[in-house]
Amino acid sequence: MSGRRGHVVLVGAGHAHLEVLRRADDLRAAGVELSVIAPGTFRYSGLASPIAAGLVAESEGTIDVAALAARHGVTHHDGLVDAIDLPGRGVRADDGSWYPYTAVSFNVGSVSRTGPPAVAGEVTVTKPLTGLARLRSRLAELSGAPRPSRVAVVGGGASGVELAATIAVRLGPDAEVSLYGRGPRLLTAAPARAARLAAAALAERGIHLVGGVSVDAVAADHLEVDGQLQSVDLVVLATGLVAPPVLAELGLGGARGIPTLATLQHPGHPEVFAVGDGAHFLPRPLPNLGVYGVRAAPVLVAGLRALHTGGRQPVFRPQRRSLQVLELGAGEALGIRDPLVWRGRSALLLKRRIDRRWLERYR
Ligand SMILES: Cc1cc2nc3c(=O)[nH]c(=O)nc-3n(C[C@H](O)[C@H](O)[C@H](O)COP(=O)(O)OP(=O)(O)OC[C@H]3O[C@@H](n4cnc5c(N)ncnc54)[C@H](O)[C@@H]3O)c2cc1C
Repeated sequence: MSGRRGHVVLVGAGHAHLEVLRRADDLRAAGVELSVIAPGTFRYSGLASPIAAGLVAESEGTIDVAALAARHGVTHHDGLVDAIDLPGRGVRADDGSWYPYTAVSFNVGSVSRTGPPAVAGEVTVTKPLTGLARLRSRLAELSGAPRPSRVAVVGGGASGVELAATIAVRLGPDAEVSLYGRGPRLLTAAPARAARLAAAALAERGIHLVGGVSVDAVAADHLEVDGQLQSVDLVVLATGLVAPPVLAELGLGGARGIPTLATLQHPGHPEVFAVGDGAHFLPRPLPNLGVYGVRAAPVLVAGLRALHTGGRQPVFRPQRRSLQVLELGAGEALGIRDPLVWRGRSALLLKRRIDRRWLERYR
């Protein structure tokens, strides 16, 4: 090692940063020390729906970020970043402490898009995933209720389908679960066959599909659909994901996230990197899927090293197609890798194997 060259602050411990933590020695060998500011527990979205529905133990889908950082000699600060001083090169954690950096990398994920529909009171949202953890206890209450429960899931995309299916399985055939979608079909980003198989699986679980409607407002115990009020016991909002608002407050990006070049660097601030859902990859839009953060991680490590050693910045070339597996409860899943689409137990077994292997790497 040729002396200390710099100090990188990782903001958030999403998919890519977990891997950067694991490779801290690669950076240390180049004279670069790391610290991470993030909540102490990482929640894995690939298992979020079955965990929320009580089909899988909560501990199966979490990673202890503090323990991972400690194992790799990285300082962990448990908290959220709420300010940045770009000229002075420092970020502030929400307890007021400042962290100087020579480079900073953001992997802060996404949050549920709200408004429209207008949201009043406590409504369960998909992200942050802590909201889904609370859903688990709400479903336990509803399953013990004396009368059948009415649940409305809003959003006909991948998480809406997963949540409607797993909630219906959890509450059993007496519950009335409805899935409201704006489009004429489910899963508009997936092949038509995926939408047909998903619709069939939801119908088998007794879920009422309401397509082509506008949900204008939601509250804890009702929703307004095309001007009509409907009373329910639980509303789950799965209407898409946007970058966390804090990125706009920091002056780094908007609803699509921090803009980045193919090198994962901010176009105006080469010492600022961003990856995952909270990054707006300028070469082409990327779907909100954890796998893109996973694949970006080695490029990020190499880029942080190059910035401090004067090497050439590597570029991220994201894959064109990715495997998506939607949990349907009752021991099966829907596998989508365009143009291949299949439904069954094998899709779920494949997903569990991929999930387990990935999670084990960080435990
Ligand atoms: C119900 C559901 C199921 C899904 N299933 C899948 C799936 O099976 N496969 C898949 O690929 N994708 C799935 N997704 C999408 C997936 O959630 C995201 O694409 C993925 O989590 C993005 O990863 P990330 O690394 O960008 O961020 P995340 O995994 O969201 O991690 C970001 C981390 O940053 C932290 N953070 C946030 N703000 C700050 C701050 N200001 N300071 C410090 N830390 C901060 C957060 O607490 C979080 O721990 C699902 C989404 C939902 C809602």
